[in-house]
Amino acid sequence: MPSQPALPRHVLVLNCGSSSLKFAILDALTSEEIISGLAERLGSSTPLIKYKYQGVKKQIELEANQAHGAAIDTLVALINDHHLADHLIAVGHRVVHGGEHFTQSVLIDDDVIKGITQAATLAPLHGHANLLGISSAQASFKGLPQIAVFDTAFHQTMEKTAYLYALPYKLYTDYGVRRYGFHGTSHFYVAEQTAKLLNQSIEHSNFISAHLGNGCSVCAIKNGKSVDTSMGLTPLEGLMMGTRSGDIDPGLFNFLTTQLDYSAQQIDDLLNKQSGLLGISELSNDCRTIEEAAVAGNEKAILALDMFCYRLAKQIAAFMVPLQRLDALIFTGGIGENSDIIRAKVIAQLSFLGLDCDNTANLAARFSKQGIISSTAANVKAVVMPTNEEWVIALDAATIAQEH
Ligand code: ADP
Repeated sequence: MPSQPALPRHVLVLNCGSSSLKFAILDALTSEEIISGLAERLGSSTPLIKYKYQGVKKQIELEANQAHGAAIDTLVALINDHHLADHLIAVGHRVVHGGEHFTQSVLIDDDVIKGITQAATLAPLHGHANLLGISSAQASFKGLPQIAVFDTAFHQTMEKTAYLYALPYKLYTDYGVRRYGFHGTSHFYVAEQTAKLLNQSIEHSNFISAHLGNGCSVCAIKNGKSVDTSMGLTPLEGLMMGTRSGDIDPGLFNFLTTQLDYSAQQIDDLLNKQSGLLGISELSNDCRTIEEAAVAGNEKAILALDMFCYRLAKQIAAFMVPLQRLDALIFTGGIGENSDIIRAKVIAQLSFLGLDCDNTANLAARFSKQGIISSTAANVKAVVMPTNEEWVIALDAATIAQEH
């Protein structure tokens, strides 16, 4: 991805989900957040926009059934009311799926729209929301360059051995069925920041980054490039997540359809919305709630946390195959940045790799939010590094906008 542009400029960053729209205006040079917010429950009976400007939180209720277009119209009005349009130089869109076509961020034109539309067949819910966000923003910000930044792009350096499924080859060549990986902007950003923190060049750094939020993925980064990642064709593969199952035996499909009469949609809901931490704890998908319950002795909460950490540690260990040498294990995302419990449990299971947790540093990261949490005796560093996907999008958008 491109490096930092020379001039301070403001970029509107849009992250369009199926029923939500996250937005922020950032200064691409300083990462200062000018305004940020979230339009949620779009298309429902009670859509709402919450935003923060100059430290003050406010909210605007939209009319029933209003969706992305209305949310962007309201955002335009907000931008105009606060005189924020003058400094805007670009709109950066987070696009979930770039397929094989997009290996880096691009200025959006008709061909790019075609490419995103094609990739949207692989992730229909996200893809269509992203396209809707782009067309609404194009209509509302006519003079501004619009840039697409893809969650999949960073992983396009994976080799076939890592990205193919052991399925009939034609499914790959004819339909693009392969592993793509997601959270690319986050893995890229925390790897660069960690290389800076450890004072080593990213081109010579071998890292494993664990992005642990509601969605969770691990990435093996060899000499600064993604060589493998735990998510696949969709963001369902790999780790146990908040409500997603991660890896399961695909034979489960047959069992659920023939024995329990599940439809394809019901299976999709089961695996994406009712599994993971929520499915095992039967309490919540929220790691904080589960940690509190575990401390109080709730057995299913304890099991959910233990499973989460065991499966994560197992995936990290597996990535030693492509890496061979590991410089640092990076924790990021809401859980990775905040849960000292999970970090300690994962590191404890990986001592054979040379990892060792410094308990004081691990607890101190609650306040410092960033830093090395491994002991001086450890051969491999463990690092907490806050992610900032919005800033990566803003930087890419500003750089590409300046080139055109
Ligand atoms: P998203 O993937 O939606 O961006 P986040 O990266 O914000 O989500 O991560 C959300 C997760 O982070 C939730 O499971 C939440 O419980 C967890 N989390 C946030 N703060 C803490 C904390 N202090 N301790 C443990 N988990 C936390």
